[in-house]
Amino acid sequence: MNNNETQGPGNNPNQPAQPNQPNQKPNGKRRFNIMWIYAILAIVLIGLNFLGRDAVTPQEEIDQGKLIEMLKKGEIGKIELVNREDAEVYLNQKGLSVYFPEVIPNSDGFTATPNYTYKIGSLDRFEEMVENAQQEVSNPVYITNVRRNNWMSDIIGWIIPLVLIVVFYIILMRGMGRNMGGGAGSIFSIGKSRAQLYDKNSSSVNVTFKDVAGLEEAKVEIMEVVDFLKNPEKYTKLGGKIPKGVLLVGPPGTGKTLLAKSVAGEANVPFFSLSGSDFVEMFVGVGASRVRDLFSNAKSKAPCIIFIDEIDAIGRARGKSAITGGNDERESTLNQLLTEMDGFGTNSGVIVLAATNRADILDKALLRAGRFDRQIYVELPDIVGRKEIFEVHMRGLKLGKDVDKDFLAKQTPGFSGADIANVCNEAALMAARKGKEEIDKQDFLDAVDRIIGGLEKKNKIITPEEKKVIAFHEAGHATTSWLLQYAHPLVKVTIVPRGNSLGAAWYLPEERQITTKEQMYHEMIATLGGRAAEQVIFGQISTGALSDLEKVTKQAFAMVTYYGLDDEIGNISYYDSTGQQDYNLTKPYSEKTAETIDKEVSKLIEKAYQEAISILTDHREGLTQLATKLVEEEVIFGEDLERIFGKRPWNNSEDEKLKDAALKAAESRSENQPENESQNA
Ligand code: ADP
Ligand code: ZN
Repeated sequence: MNNNETQGPGNNPNQPAQPNQPNQKPNGKRRFNIMWIYAILAIVLIGLNFLGRDAVTPQEEIDQGKLIEMLKKGEIGKIELVNREDAEVYLNQKGLSVYFPEVIPNSDGFTATPNYTYKIGSLDRFEEMVENAQQEVSNPVYITNVRRNNWMSDIIGWIIPLVLIVVFYIILMRGMGRNMGGGAGSIFSIGKSRAQLYDKNSSSVNVTFKDVAGLEEAKVEIMEVVDFLKNPEKYTKLGGKIPKGVLLVGPPGTGKTLLAKSVAGEANVPFFSLSGSDFVEMFVGVGASRVRDLFSNAKSKAPCIIFIDEIDAIGRARGKSAITGGNDERESTLNQLLTEMDGFGTNSGVIVLAATNRADILDKALLRAGRFDRQIYVELPDIVGRKEIFEVHMRGLKLGKDVDKDFLAKQTPGFSGADIANVCNEAALMAARKGKEEIDKQDFLDAVDRIIGGLEKKNKIITPEEKKVIAFHEAGHATTSWLLQYAHPLVKVTIVPRGNSLGAAWYLPEERQITTKEQMYHEMIATLGGRAAEQVIFGQISTGALSDLEKVTKQAFAMVTYYGLDDEIGNISYYDSTGQQDYNLTKPYSEKTAETIDKEVSKLIEKAYQEAISILTDHREGLTQLATKLVEEEVIFGEDLERIFGKRPWNNSEDEKLKDAALKAAESRSENQPENESQNA
């Protein structure tokens, strides 16, 4: 059975409500202020550069000849060597009067800026040249070294990249924010919780108890939680403490998320929904930070509900994985969760609901009083529950007259609520594909087959020989199960390939809570019936029995080591309900016992196989008839078996009667007390 979980509204990505949106704007503004400061600084610097001193002349670049000439004439007052690469030449009084007669020098005898510049090739040669040129001059000028920083180009050199980086960054952040839906996307908010908030105004919590079928006990218990949120005083007045956490335990697809959502809908309070794996990120410390953020968000919205789906992602028992040496990040996330749950008062109006399908592997600290001290079991629906779930999901469908909910509920043992929702949807799609106006019974049956076995693969290439082998294999299952008292009665057999199996036999499991040794043994025989038929008819066996063998082996192991159904091993169970066995490298039994277990398991399987062979040898005739019919028609039903082998002497009519009685009782209950429903709602 595959648990095709339909996507619950919990993961709806189009949720508008985002608790941590408004922190982008102020940041952006501050960044612009900084930009202004830079701009002003730049303007001031440029201004300073131009602010000036007075006497200036154009700075002409001169060549060596001119320089030498002026030096020889003694017209130069000083030479400043800037950063050892440019020479700035200042004329003295004499030179100025020759070249710039109208310029009046400053009080030191020079102009404010150099009169000429000269590019130096080699420093040594330049010095030599200056010296030589002045050999006949009475008071020669010497070269002064000046180290000058070019502020402007330096500042621009780092302002521009800085500005670019800031602009780039702003663009990037805006883009990210837009792509990922605001706050949750940017790098700053990686430590923020990923919880989706369903609010009164977002009107998405329109799930109420009416949408949850069955689960009566769970509803009663969770009703109390609604009451805690609605009238806390009623309980706190007497000094009672309101529970902080409620754990929903049950197999996947049984409606845990749905139930939690309906609580929020019933109590009409905000509902934070997230999955345990949302806390997990590759960065260390993020999980703990997200927990903190989640709880502070929740407290600001109290009264409200936090729903953590799949809490086992963070809530596994700590420090038990011997091989990996523990997952520190997960542990610190869990510790933070524990701290937060201890931290808020019992009357703060925040209730944490969590769902898991394995309560046994959770850390004991999570389950102790004051945390998740209440556990609500959400089981797979029984026949009455299934009928009600069908009713809920058929509400919006256009049904044909022949659709019988009782019949469908009987046909779907072991289905979860999610499977049933899936069946209804598949049936609608199938009817639409065939262009029907209504969905009829056959569409539902096809949908059930499809959910169990996958899509039919009519075009898979199978040779006639293979087809024959498959037909005998499936007929073997059908025959053995028909002829064994405790095996499940068969509904139908097909040899149309589906999913990755080549053929399939459908049984109608009885709804039993405990299974006897005899029943298990008969099931093993029926499971081995496929391979046994190949052996009996063809004298050789094939690989087609892989999944049968796997199933039988597991079952035999469980019988011997878990259920204490083996004489040799005795009433001992090596089952560990705490789930910590997975981490242990050693087995809880000795080598000798291990040998005995192996021996007993193979003995059990061998015995079942021989039994199957003997049944099929005795009924070779019927088996062949059945297989031939299968090859011709590809599908056979229980009625065909009845014609070949006769009625089952122990046709479990008792069982049928019980089921019908249950359905009838449920019907009269809901007819007699319609007001009760609305009172709860
Ligand atoms: P879980 O959280 O236990 O894995 P969900 O609550 O997500 O399961 O259930 C998945 C879907 O299955 C729901 O959205 C709903 O359509 C359907 N479903 C499951 N249980 C029920 C139920 N008791 N009544 C009605 N629908 C159900
Ligand atoms: Zn098989």
